[in-house]
Amino acid sequence: GIVMLSDVEIAQNAEIWPIDRVAERAGLTPDEFEPYGRDKAKITLQKKRARGKLVLVTAISPTPAGEGKSTVTVGLADAMNQAGVKTMVALREPSMGPVMGLKGGATGGGMAQVIPMADINLHFTGDFHALTSAHNTLAALIDNSLQQGNPLQLNPRRIVWKRVLDVNDRALRHINIGLGGMTSGIPRESGFDITVASELMAILTLSQDLMDLRTRIERIVIGYTYDNEPVTVAQLGVAGALTVMLKDAIKPNLVQTLEHTPALIHGGPFANIAQGTNSVLATDTALQLADFTITEAGFGADLGGEKFMDIKIPILGQAPDVVVLVATVRALKYNGGQSRENLQNPDLKALQAGLKNLARHLQAMQRYGKPVLVAINRFVTDTDEEVALIQQFAAQHGSQAYETNVWSQGGQGALKLAQAVQEAADNEQNFQPLYQADDAFETKLQKIVTEIYGGRGYELAPKAQQQLVTFKAHGWDKMPVVMAKTQYSFSDDAKQLGAPEDFIIHIRELELKNGAGFIVALTGNVLTMPGLPEVPAANRIDIDAHGRITGLD
Ligand code: ADP
Repeated sequence: GIVMLSDVEIAQNAEIWPIDRVAERAGLTPDEFEPYGRDKAKITLQKKRARGKLVLVTAISPTPAGEGKSTVTVGLADAMNQAGVKTMVALREPSMGPVMGLKGGATGGGMAQVIPMADINLHFTGDFHALTSAHNTLAALIDNSLQQGNPLQLNPRRIVWKRVLDVNDRALRHINIGLGGMTSGIPRESGFDITVASELMAILTLSQDLMDLRTRIERIVIGYTYDNEPVTVAQLGVAGALTVMLKDAIKPNLVQTLEHTPALIHGGPFANIAQGTNSVLATDTALQLADFTITEAGFGADLGGEKFMDIKIPILGQAPDVVVLVATVRALKYNGGQSRENLQNPDLKALQAGLKNLARHLQAMQRYGKPVLVAINRFVTDTDEEVALIQQFAAQHGSQAYETNVWSQGGQGALKLAQAVQEAADNEQNFQPLYQADDAFETKLQKIVTEIYGGRGYELAPKAQQQLVTFKAHGWDKMPVVMAKTQYSFSDDAKQLGAPEDFIIHIRELELKNGAGFIVALTGNVLTMPGLPEVPAANRIDIDAHGRITGLD
């Protein structure tokens, strides 16, 4: 048989264009990009251009079998360019913690990747380091304020701003700080989150410009006084300094796909406790530069897709013209009850059973009013009968499914999908938001649960109820909701695959993200500092004397 190269081998063997050539292809003038080395650059548009069309790629419920959203996003953009349509990709920056842990790279796969793959997956242009430093500088400034007589009367037990690191380090989840006597701080309990869980990350990626970033930073609630009054960064007086630390991190990063399609990779907020998509600025930039922008939202359509529509779109001010739902035969069979070991075996029965997961996601995305297409990301073990069954099913559910082979063929493998996306984008259908900004918090929750998840309703635990009372008193309850829920199920029980019916979403606790501008509703236990698995990816990653990296996928 054919020996397939690994993702990192393909990426390292690829021809890579100097970044000025990519910038030129993207239509940037020389004063609009700053090279970061030979194959990366930061972008600042100097003049406004008209916006092109937007395509959102999302997926069915994630499974251990993999769906390949990034792979399809990249491959679709390459296919559009092959078809002569000026297209750009806008993706999130990978977080390094999970790269060393379980996930491996997050830059697509096979023949549909963004490069330089290793750099993008590691330190890239330093955005996450800048963000980590800015976040931790704020933490240090808070502890210093306590040390210097506590002029803001912060209750040390009610400081909500933790520290962050882009490392999966479970041992840092709960820590004691300020030990070592009078000169070494005020002792208190705190902890670390992973960098991508930082509210600053959500803020950076929702900001429209530098001044918007500054205003949002000012609004961050860092903790509460002894009288339970909120204390903000504005009161601490350091929003300017933090914005300065992020002045370059806010600029979108330009790279290229294996086929030299210009790609913007910028920002990486979590899809459960934040909006899970690349920055508003990067998407806006791509929209201005290309006729089509292909972008992605994390996890499934219920989590990333919903947040894209309800949180990012109002700020971006442009709805997607088309939604592409990525499905795989394997993941559908897994959702239909097939065991992980047997996913490579043809099984129309399990596939049929799993299709209800696709139907629910289709319905959730179709309710926004725009055309939804299905991309079947084909694996070598899929049979033609299985692919045909999905196509038939999609057609019966108001959609069309297209087989894509971008992993094995690059853009060539998605020409039909590219054609369909172009045609579907030419529609006059109105975008139908799920809720209005001034809807009550309860209405927003109810709509997400019933219209997107297909559940019966929600329940607020006593703690969440109390918090809602406080939030209402401060006027914080009119912000959008970020539902922090397992990505594996429509319900809050990760084991209920497929399309569970008649369930209640249990909301344990609320979290205020006043700077980002949303309220997080926590269902179950959402980890904001992941751990490492028994055999971490770090155990297979290596480099040789020529700088060739292995195991990074
Ligand atoms: P997601 O964006 O949904 O997390 P990715 O696009 O990152 O998924 O893909 C996850 C992994 O699956 C990558 O290592 C990629 O190489 C692999 N992959 C994606 N599509 C295919 C396919 N059709 N066949 C084989 N492997 C694939």
